[in-house]
Amino acid sequence: MGVIRKVLIANRGEIAVRIMQTLQPMGIGTVAVYSDADRDAPHVALAAEAFHLEGVSAADTYLRVDRLLEAARRFGADAVHPGYGFLSENAAFARACRDAGLTFIGPAPEVIELLGDKVRSKEIMRAAGVPVVPSLPSDAVNFDTLGYPLLVKAAAGGGGKGMRRVDDPRHLADALAAASREAEKAFGNGQVFVEKYIEHPRHIEFQIFGDDQGRVIDLHERECSIQRRHQKVVEETPSPALTPGLRARMAEAAVKAGQAVRYTNAGTVEFIVDADGSFYFLEVNTRLQVEHPITEWVLAEDLVRAQIRVAQGEPLPFDNPTPRGHALECRIYAEEPARSFLPSTGTVQCYRPPQAPWVRVDTGIEKGSDIGVHYDPMIAKLSVWGPDRSVALERMRWALDQYVVLGVSHNIPFLRRLMDEPDFIAGRLHTQFIDTHPDLLKTPPGPDDDTLLVAALAFSTGGAARAVEVPSAGGPFEWAGGWRNT
Ligand code: ADP
Ligand code: ADP
Ligand code: MG
Repeated sequence: MGVIRKVLIANRGEIAVRIMQTLQPMGIGTVAVYSDADRDAPHVALAAEAFHLEGVSAADTYLRVDRLLEAARRFGADAVHPGYGFLSENAAFARACRDAGLTFIGPAPEVIELLGDKVRSKEIMRAAGVPVVPSLPSDAVNFDTLGYPLLVKAAAGGGGKGMRRVDDPRHLADALAAASREAEKAFGNGQVFVEKYIEHPRHIEFQIFGDDQGRVIDLHERECSIQRRHQKVVEETPSPALTPGLRARMAEAAVKAGQAVRYTNAGTVEFIVDADGSFYFLEVNTRLQVEHPITEWVLAEDLVRAQIRVAQGEPLPFDNPTPRGHALECRIYAEEPARSFLPSTGTVQCYRPPQAPWVRVDTGIEKGSDIGVHYDPMIAKLSVWGPDRSVALERMRWALDQYVVLGVSHNIPFLRRLMDEPDFIAGRLHTQFIDTHPDLLKTPPGPDDDTLLVAALAFSTGGAARAVEVPSAGGPFEWAGGWRNT
């Protein structure tokens, strides 16, 4: 611990860029790391210094603890920011940083370890008086007390992976075995357990922050009920579902959860909330969250800056900030919603994000970037602020309409349809929303070929062809002047 002068950012893409945007104005040095595939990535260009991790796969590069520590040593970094994903919730990495004399910007390794185990963390929270989803170990004799449907989950799970819903007792044994094999492969830990499956819940989480002085506070909620494959796609704050009373009870439970493990730095306590307003603890994510920008919008605070200050041993820099207005975030992914959200790959040929004072785009790509199979297919996080939810929605619609990404398939049209869906507008959200609104996945027919040709012509002439009228016969071939059809 002590004053942080140079930080190694053990991550890539938009989150590495985001972290540097806070460090650099603070006068803190930045060291990026990059794989063979990321040589020309924006996060490398922005960093003052950069270290090459030979290889392409995550396992060969961003997950190599030894190489990351070597990078820190080589460039004289005194702290490490793990971002999210990759090694951000890996207790062994946090411990290795500490052993190497580096400040790990996050909670203590012991706390990461404890909370990374969904079975142990639930025991601790139950004992602390936090409401927890009813669950049983995988070797329980009788699961009937939970009632079907059940959800089989990996103790070490994350990112929505390793979950299986079971509707019929006859399928439970197979589901347990399959989930265990999957978990062993994905997380190197085959332990699974069984939870009561809550139908049509909302996902509502609380941002918490703790310091070395023992103070733990909450920084209000985020609702992340719009999900695909148990992973968030759209987030907002405040939640349209919370009454002041329920919000106060949940915030109190979140702080209690943090206090139970003497939590330090930024964390997120996740709950699911059922139709009658009962809420249940799911897990604590021991890192900065993908959706942290919406909390930053309504609080006008910089959570990464607070992370740095707390990691230096300073007390929490917040004094019960009051949220203002409404913020919405959409995750822009290279994927095809109509094909089960299958990730897509390719080179970004044209990239034009929206710009306005109430729009924020966190991105790690640019024109010419390749979106490959090796890393997360997220292109950007698009967030907007408005004085209330309906203005925030208007602005999000506009921002999605302005957003141009060509060269890879993406989910912008899907998100745009979502913003017009009456149940979404009314705030009637739940985690199976996309399944219960299948029309959102239908792609309306695109423009016909003539229209595309005219658009291409207008684009290539810088708009000079805009006023040209399309003659009825012959199409653009008849009148295109200097334009040749090759
Ligand atoms: P959260 O729990 O923060 O809401 P997720 O459950 O989607 O979000 O978990 C974080 C995910 O972010 C990881 O599973 C990983 O796939 C993805 N990820 C990790 N690093 C990056 C990055 N640099 N850019 C984009 N996505 C990333
Ligand atoms: P992960 O570590 O993968 O993020 P979580 O336990 O946080 O796993 O759950 C992720 C998502 O899965 C939740 O937001 C919710 O949509 C769904 N989910 C998890 N547990 C349950 C449950 N018991 N009943 C219904 N849905 C659940
Ligand atoms: Mg979770």
